[in-house]
Amino acid sequence: SAMSIPETHKAIRFHETGESYDVLKYESVPTPTPTSSEILIKNKYAGVNFIEKYFRIGLYPAKLPYTLGREAVGEIVSVGSEVEGYQVGDLIAYASASTFSEYTIINPSENFRILNIPKNATDEQLQLYAAVFIQGFTALTFIEEAYAVKKGDYILVHAAAGGVGSLLTQLITRLGAHVIATASTPEKLALAKSNGAEFLINSVSEDITAKVLEYTSGKGVQASFDSVGKDTWDISFNSTARKGTIVSFGNASGAVPPISINILSGKNLKVLRPTVFNYIGTKEEWEYYSQKMLKLISSGELKFDISKIYKLEDYPKAAADLEGRKTTGKLLLSI
Ligand code: NDP
Repeated sequence: SAMSIPETHKAIRFHETGESYDVLKYESVPTPTPTSSEILIKNKYAGVNFIEKYFRIGLYPAKLPYTLGREAVGEIVSVGSEVEGYQVGDLIAYASASTFSEYTIINPSENFRILNIPKNATDEQLQLYAAVFIQGFTALTFIEEAYAVKKGDYILVHAAAGGVGSLLTQLITRLGAHVIATASTPEKLALAKSNGAEFLINSVSEDITAKVLEYTSGKGVQASFDSVGKDTWDISFNSTARKGTIVSFGNASGAVPPISINILSGKNLKVLRPTVFNYIGTKEEWEYYSQKMLKLISSGELKFDISKIYKLEDYPKAAADLEGRKTTGKLLLSI
């Protein structure tokens, strides 16, 4: 009931940008009251994503003070008078800003990327839905629209043991293509292998391009899914086959420096720099991809590996682990 909604709640925010985790503050903020078109959600789990770093360090613009978080699962605790289709007590998973917070407010008609979760969902199911949004839909949309992966393709997946990388590896393998996976440790490579990767390259100790050319009889890959950015641009460029595609979609090592488009003519390469929600920009697109995702989950064809759950207040530790290349799969915050 409305009576139980506190006037203030805890959230992870920063008031100034910086590389240091010290800029991250776990602090009390006023709990917003929904307008007639909004709903208020009490979050249970939020997914951790690498993008939070880009906001913290100022690579991506943020209005200060800024509450981090992009996805969560929780219970609706208040519903605006004009909202249709949602009721107090409903459980939902959703994508929105400001989810590293006990409460988040959204407008469900504008912010329509919402999954309804059965009221009897187990804690484990809630965790799974908190893990699905950003990384899951990134992998699902990119293999269809950034580069449409085909049976028999050779595909380079950088950081293949990471959140997005693990899902890309599974989905690309499922389509009958060959995944060439990179990761920084033997343990991470073993994980990539368990997700279906056929060729494994240690990105710290091996020459990635030389290995890719060896595995592809000198031709290179049909596509490189590159989230590492700065450190791997040249590797992706040199490892991609004639008429191939470089999908550059992240900055884990820093932003890719500007390039001249003329360099693409050497192999008639295609280069994209996509973001997930520009592939899910309409309700129709959401319907299409969310149905697809739910089928992949319920059939067990796509596995989400939740490797660690931190308390909300321990987000700085989660960030340090993720950015320090210490993690695999998905990290969650328990709220
Ligand atoms: P990950 O779990 O993949 O973590 C990042 C991984 O990148 C690390 O584990 C590490 O793996 C690798 N890495 C390589 N170089 C570095 C470096 N210098 N510093 C840190 N890590 C490095 O994170 P996510 O799955 O959350 O995200 C992966 C990438 O995808 C990020 O760049 C993210 O921004 C991007 N992304 C983009 C989206 C879009 O819409 N464009 C949506 C979602 C994610 P290893 O130790 O094996 O090298």
